[in-house]
Amino acid sequence: FHEEELVARVRIHMKIKLLQDELREKNGRLEELTRIDPLTQIPNRRYFMECFEREFSRAKRYGFPLSYVMCDLDHFKKLNDVHGHQAGDTALIKVASILKETLRDHDTCGRYGGEEFSMVLPETDGEGAVIVADRCRREIEESRFEANGETLGVTMSLGVATFYPDKESGVDDLAGLIKLADEALYVAKDGGRNRVVLDKDS
Ligand code: GH3
Ligand code: MG
Ligand code: MG
Repeated sequence: FHEEELVARVRIHMKIKLLQDELREKNGRLEELTRIDPLTQIPNRRYFMECFEREFSRAKRYGFPLSYVMCDLDHFKKLNDVHGHQAGDTALIKVASILKETLRDHDTCGRYGGEEFSMVLPETDGEGAVIVADRCRREIEESRFEANGETLGVTMSLGVATFYPDKESGVDDLAGLIKLADEALYVAKDGGRNRVVLDKDS
């Protein structure tokens, strides 16, 4: 064999390997961008729903309860109006990081909409979900953030609903569960905000 040709071939293969590795890394970063909300760095709605659907079918298959929590910041429009959008954004970042830290490893939270967050708690009944949700609520109530040289706080209302796979009555799909949590959230708002309300059948 020709030594020069062998060296050239090895070089080409090394170059190809390098390019493949780079491509793989770039694809990974791109996938991350499609999943993570750029402001809060937690799962965006689409990715959150993917996780939620997967957990819902797991709960159905294995017969575990699954809780869903719908969260909405209180009087957030006022915070924006009084302290500016930048302060609102800082509050959203703070809240997301608290949710992420407060939840257990197998729970997932996501940014559902503007100032709305969602959480899915696998293998958790209504009572357990209320404990988790209230811990999040309290952590947020007690936290402070800085904006425009001021120290500010924010509160959150939460609605909780649970899917019990072995229960004859009650919800049996994801949309139904979201609706119940949304209704519970509405009751929490109506009841004065900064509170957790559990759906009556959960
Ligand atoms: P309530 O307690 O009833 O939920 O009152 P609220 O003011 O929070 O509710 P409302 O739905 O009236 O207002 C939500 C506000 O959230 C409106 C919008 O200005 C603000 N918002 C939504 N997305 C963002 C965002 O990405 N950044 C900032 N700074 N504000 C946002
Ligand atoms: Mg809202
Ligand atoms: Mg709100």
